[in-house]
Amino acid sequence: MTITPLMPVYPRCGFRPVRGEGAWLISEDGSRALDFASGIAVNILGHGHPHLTAAIQEQAATLMHVSNLYGSPQGEKFAQRLVDTTFADTIFFTNSGAEAVECAIKAARAYHQSQDSERFEIITFKNAFHGRTMATISASNQEKMHHGFSPLLSGFKYVEFDDLDGAKAAIGPNTAGFLVEPIQGEGGVRPASQEFMEGLRDLADEHDLMLVLDEVQCGVARTGKLYAHELYDIEPDIMATAKGIGGGFPLGACLATEKAARGMVVGTHGSTYGGNPLAMAAGNAVWDVVANDEFLENVRTMGDKLRAAIEQFIGNYPDLFEGVRGEGLMLGIMMTHPTRGFVGHLRDNHGLLTVAAGDDTLRVLPPLNITDAEISTFIEKLSAGAADYVQPEAA
Ligand SMILES: *Cc1c(COP(=O)(O)O)cnc(C)c1O
Repeated sequence: MTITPLMPVYPRCGFRPVRGEGAWLISEDGSRALDFASGIAVNILGHGHPHLTAAIQEQAATLMHVSNLYGSPQGEKFAQRLVDTTFADTIFFTNSGAEAVECAIKAARAYHQSQDSERFEIITFKNAFHGRTMATISASNQEKMHHGFSPLLSGFKYVEFDDLDGAKAAIGPNTAGFLVEPIQGEGGVRPASQEFMEGLRDLADEHDLMLVLDEVQCGVARTGKLYAHELYDIEPDIMATAKGIGGGFPLGACLATEKAARGMVVGTHGSTYGGNPLAMAAGNAVWDVVANDEFLENVRTMGDKLRAAIEQFIGNYPDLFEGVRGEGLMLGIMMTHPTRGFVGHLRDNHGLLTVAAGDDTLRVLPPLNITDAEISTFIEKLSAGAADYVQPEAA
C-alpha cells in the first residue's frame, strides 16, 4: 500500500502546525511562522481569539447539533443579524463555500423555473474559482479542475473576467443569471472594475437575470467593507459567503433577496448540519467582533499601511515583483515569475506563510486584527526572503 491515509489530493508541505496564537502558528517541531495566509482568508480573528473560542466552547457544552426540522433560536438570531447588516432578506446556512455557491446556483435557476420559465444558464467568468463540487467546478473554465471528472454539469457559459461587452453578448433566451467574484481570489486577487460590476447589475435588471456574487473569499470584512460589493455601491440578488464567516469554524451561507428566493420553498433544499447551533455560535461571535464601523475602518487603515509598506519594499526588487493589487487586507503581490517557489522559500526559510494564486500572484491574507508590529515583522521577513531567494532556472 503506497496511498496515504489522507487522500493525496494536496501537495502538503513539511510545516505541520499544532497550535495557534493570534497571527502566529506553531509547528509540531516548535518552530513559529507568521500567518499571513489565515487558512486562506478564514481565520479573520487570528488563532485562539478569546471571544470566538469561548462562544464555541460554551455552545459545544450546551447543545452542539439538532436537526433543521426543529426551530432554531441560534439560527434565527444570526440570520436576522445578516439580514440587518446586508442586502439580503433571507439566509440558507451551509458548511462550506462550495455548498453556499451550490445553493446560490439552485436559487438562481429556481427563481426562473418556479415561474414556468425554462431558463437555466449561468454566465460565469474565466479563471473564476467557485469550489470543488461538480456544479462549482463546472461553473469555472479552469481545465485543471475538470480533468478526470467528466461529464461536467451543463448550463454554464464562460466569459472573460471584467469584459462587460462579452457578458452582454453571452445573454440568450436561456440565461438565468451571472455568477461572479467581485474580487477574484484564486484567480490572482483581481478586483473587477466599477464599470463591470455596475454594468452587470444593469444587464441583470434589464433582462430579469439574477446577479449572483461569490464573496466566499472577498467577503466578511476582508476588504474593509462587510461585503466587497459595497465598494462598488451595487447590490446582488443572491450571494455566497463562507471562509471568514465562522472565523475557522466550517460555515457558509447563501444570502438572497425575497424576490430572488421565490423558488426556494419548503422541500426544495436542505442540509443536515447546515446552521447547527455550534456553527451559529461561531458565526454570531464573529459578527459580534466584525460587524461595526470601527472594526471595518481599522481593516481599511491596516490594509492601507500594509499596502504602502509592500509598495515601498518591492521597488527594491523590480526583477522579482511587479506591483500590488487588491482591497483592504486582501492583497496580491504580482511577481515576474511563478510564485510557488517563493511562497515555499518564505515558509521554509523565513517562517512566513502566504499563499500562491493564479497569474503569478502572491496572496497576502493576514488576520483582520493584525497590529503595526506584525506588519513590520511581515515586511522584515519578506525583505529577508527576497534578499536570499534564488530563482529556479526557467524550464
Ligand atoms: C474558497 C472558495 C470557494 C469554495 O469554498 P470551500 O469552503 O472550499 O468549498 C468558493 N468560492 C471562492 C471565491 C472561494 O475563494
